[in-house]
Amino acid sequence: MAPPIAELSAVEVDYPRGRALGPFDLSLEPGEIVALVGPSGCGKSTALRLLAGLEQPTRGQVRRASAPGETAVVFQSPTLMPWASAIENVALPLELARTPQAAARARAAEALTRVRLKGVEAAKPAQLSGGMAMRVSLARALVTAPKLLLLDEPFAALDEITRRALAEDVHRLWDRSRPAIVFVTHNVEEAVYMADRTIVMTPGPGRAAGETRMEAPLPRPEGFRTTAAFRDAAEAVSRALDAAMTA
Ligand code: ATP
Repeated sequence: MAPPIAELSAVEVDYPRGRALGPFDLSLEPGEIVALVGPSGCGKSTALRLLAGLEQPTRGQVRRASAPGETAVVFQSPTLMPWASAIENVALPLELARTPQAAARARAAEALTRVRLKGVEAAKPAQLSGGMAMRVSLARALVTAPKLLLLDEPFAALDEITRRALAEDVHRLWDRSRPAIVFVTHNVEEAVYMADRTIVMTPGPGRAAGETRMEAPLPRPEGFRTTAAFRDAAEAVSRALDAAMTA
């Protein structure tokens, strides 16, 4: 079996006010999608920062098989360059990696097509809706084909219909280069829809309280949300979350 893309082993993170996370373990296989679900303040973002290499654990170990440039992070707000067009925003990571401009533009255009933004290449961020701006941000994160993609509540500010469409966009982008994805959300159904496995965390300092696997193809087949498998998994995650909250 291929070695894990990233691994957190008994990590703990202490801040001056106390422990924020752990002990927490997570091993990520290449190409798998993992959702982290847990109450506010349990340390989900802290776990992502460890995986991104943006922070060091107080105790425990972080191992990453991918080089720093092979990890991409998307936050709740799209953080696009306001003065640049959609295609310039998406092409930026390629141009920073010295890809010739014509090739960078061609790959950026293809990434925008995958997130249903063909025709808006020249638009500036201010001309885009929140959902469109997030799609540009996702296209930018994946245009360099990173091995690890970290998503910190990327859809939290968006309405339910837009969130559902974005889940499809993430799967379509994922299907191109199959990065491992770790995805933080408060939404149980979104976690189960998006992920191969959903890890429920306890209230802070967060530990893993349980894990639910969703053995179904990615991208999800038509009508997947109405299947018994989907509903059973969502119920199992909800129960695990309730149990973690009252433990
Ligand atoms: P939410 O779901 O509300 O975004 P979270 O599960 O992502 O929360 P974290 O943001 O990881 O939780 O925070 C975990 C704990 O660590 C919280 O109590 C938070 O106040 C604290 N914390 C996070 N970052 C720092 C920091 N840089 N300095 C001090 N305390 C911090």
